[in-house]
Amino acid sequence: MRPLWQTLLNLIQKKEKATLDCDECFELLEYLVEVSALTPAKMEKPEFIQLQDVARIHLNSCPHCREHHLHLLEEMEAQLSNEKRITNSED
Ligand SMILES: [Zn+2]
Repeated sequence: MRPLWQTLLNLIQKKEKATLDCDECFELLEYLVEVSALTPAKMEKPEFIQLQDVARIHLNSCPHCREHHLHLLEEMEAQLSNEKRITNSED
């Protein structure tokens, strides 16, 4: 069985719209948190940026996931900004 993120990447590459249900969103977020902790550089690859977008789109459109899983996205972003140590951040 292929991991979820690979299925999603496949959809993205075929220019098909990747949409998630709530379980998939959670699974993807957990995966992204893990990757951002272990290999932050990977997160800057275009395909991983797209995976983050897919997760964000679901979080933006799903109040349930916003409430329960937004912290995962924030965790991931915290990992990444720690890593980069942004000195000159603008909003
Ligand atoms: Zn959801």
